Amino acid sequence: MEPLLKIEGLSKSYHDLEVLKGVDLTVNKGEVIAIIGPSGTGKSTLLRCINFLEEPTAGIVSIGEDKVESLPQHKKQRTFHPDITKLRTKVGMVFQHFNLWPHMSVLENVMEGPTLIKKKPKAEALEQAKYLLDLVKMGDKADQYPLSLSGGQQQRVAIARALAMEPELMLFDEVTSALDPQLVGEVLEAMTNLAKKGMTMLVVTHEMRFAENVATRVIFMNEGKIAEEGTPEKVFHNPDNPATKSFLSFSK
Ligand code: ADP
Ligand code: MG
Repeated sequence: MEPLLKIEGLSKSYHDLEVLKGVDLTVNKGEVIAIIGPSGTGKSTLLRCINFLEEPTAGIVSIGEDKVESLPQHKKQRTFHPDITKLRTKVGMVFQHFNLWPHMSVLENVMEGPTLIKKKPKAEALEQAKYLLDLVKMGDKADQYPLSLSGGQQQRVAIARALAMEPELMLFDEVTSALDPQLVGEVLEAMTNLAKKGMTMLVVTHEMRFAENVATRVIFMNEGKIAEEGTPEKVFHNPDNPATKSFLSFSK
């Protein structure tokens, strides 16, 4: 097994509030990690620290060869790491609130990053966008505008758009939480297909059935720490930590 993401001693505080309290996690290529846990426990903060949307207070994040170490504030000599930019190009992220560009068609939304940032030739970006839109079953909506789509359709476009940047790792933060229940399935299906294609994924979710059926590993986060982790079978049916048991009994 080949490690892709390595997190060591990751901590994050906002002023006096210690949100992440030393998280260690290694994710191998092709793993699908479901992250579950009570609200306010640091799940989003963990994802945001992985691509440095938030700067960790301390700890090391490595993706493949690229490594960024965050030093405690008082030791910090500079706040900008050139490596952050490199590390970010390897990570795609999709959030709860799809933020597609409303003035661009679905196709343009997916092509924008590759042409503008990656300087990909237009014909190549177009071919790739069509492939990715087919992958999330949005190929027939390529010329529509985001506001004419359902939330589930928009979210699938957001997934295609993130994939167009050719990330090695995809982060999903409660991507189905804002959707009407009948639209959740189509987004989970797109994510399941992506997992089957071998994408390495970290998925913060309340969808326990998805976590159980698709994840290779489940992480239960509680109070800023990984409180339990294991196979879906283990975490859902035979958890060691009483906090896991209690959380699962409330989320049925
Ligand atoms: P989760 O995703 O598990 O619900 P979060 O990572 O969003 O938890 O938040 C963990 C804690 O950090 C919460 O108490 C939240 O209020 C706090 N928090 C998150 N972001 C910020 C911020 N930018 N400034 C201050 N506090 C924050
Ligand atoms: Mg969250």
